[in-house]
Amino acid sequence: MRAKASESLFCFRTLGIQPFVWSQGPWFKLLGRCPTWGENRGRKLMTKLEQDLVAIRRHLHQNPETAHQEYQTTEYILACLRRHGIRVIDYGLTAGVVAEIGGIVPGPVIALRADIDALPVTEQTDLPYASRIPGKMHACGHDFHTAVVIGAGILLKQLESDLPGTVRLIFQPAEETATGARWIMEHRVLDDVSCIFGLHNKPDLPVGTVGIKAGPLMAGAYGFVVEIQGQGSHAAVPDHSVDPIVTASLVVSALLEVTIRTFDLGVRQAVLKRFEDIVYGVSSALGASASIRWVQGPPPVNNHEGLTDFVRDVVAGTGLRVVEPKPSAAGEDFAFYQQSVPGVFVFVGTSGHYEWHHPQFDLDESALPFTAEFCKELCRLALTRLQFHDPLAFYGEADEEQIFDGP
Ligand SMILES: [Zn+2]
Ligand SMILES: [Zn+2]
Repeated sequence: MRAKASESLFCFRTLGIQPFVWSQGPWFKLLGRCPTWGENRGRKLMTKLEQDLVAIRRHLHQNPETAHQEYQTTEYILACLRRHGIRVIDYGLTAGVVAEIGGIVPGPVIALRADIDALPVTEQTDLPYASRIPGKMHACGHDFHTAVVIGAGILLKQLESDLPGTVRLIFQPAEETATGARWIMEHRVLDDVSCIFGLHNKPDLPVGTVGIKAGPLMAGAYGFVVEIQGQGSHAAVPDHSVDPIVTASLVVSALLEVTIRTFDLGVRQAVLKRFEDIVYGVSSALGASASIRWVQGPPPVNNHEGLTDFVRDVVAGTGLRVVEPKPSAAGEDFAFYQQSVPGVFVFVGTSGHYEWHHPQFDLDESALPFTAEFCKELCRLALTRLQFHDPLAFYGEADEEQIFDGP
């Protein structure tokens, strides 16, 4: 029997989707808040940005590449960044990109991460920009994340001379195999980073909302390979044989009660033990032998408390609506970064009709420009705040009013 936990043991439920009223949405509130843009000028700029980000997202969507093969994607991101004069930093990555904005005014370094890989899924939409690559699809919306972080880079570049520090953009490969984040860290991209932010689109949240939650947000995941060894014999003497297929199917039936996705490391140990008991117990009862090989996935995504409070206030300040998301049972290798530096991972509402990894997955692209704007504000305000505060006491005793002072 060969099975992956992610394939066999979990499915998502799509929650009800609230209609989004555009005229009352974050777009106009963002423009209204912007102190330096006149409304018309602001709208024109954002319209151009929206066009650019939609084009970027669609190009990526049409040309998906799976984990550790994101070479064309890497070239495309490099071209987008260079077109806007954003400097690329060479960390020796073969796939993935690291770029920086700021550093003209000395200050801390913070990171904003997008994942860039697609899935081995055959797209079943009839969208005009559907995947051109058979068997590959951006079915988790990492094309959206990549476009958003490029957009945030474009917006931050316009503020570069005033940024009190450096924003490092990380375009990470191989999230879906939970190997990219560790690879980025092995290349020392996080060594001088004070804190890190990341996002994931969320189909069951409406456009205009951001799901923010302190503590565990996404589950730690384990993959496994179970091999069951039976006993062959002639069909005339079936009582001398042990059929591994029958044994495996009974093991699978028994395992349906178990999921290897947990939010707590203590619970994880208990679940792994129960899994082993079932596999070995059922196999030996039928006279077969079994072996289990664990494939370690990421730990739970665990958002830093003080930093989460800060992000919640930044979201509210941009006119987007903060919602408290249910923790997701999906795994996410952003969790590895959070083991090294304080970090917050948020869900951005994208009003989808199908959940992550579905062959008909899609999202509402109108979320692109204001998500980029939110990320820009998040980075700008985090740098401003870090000038005066230790990131681990990020919110601490500080005066909350101070956060929204302009640059
Ligand atoms: Zn995914
Ligand atoms: Zn994803």
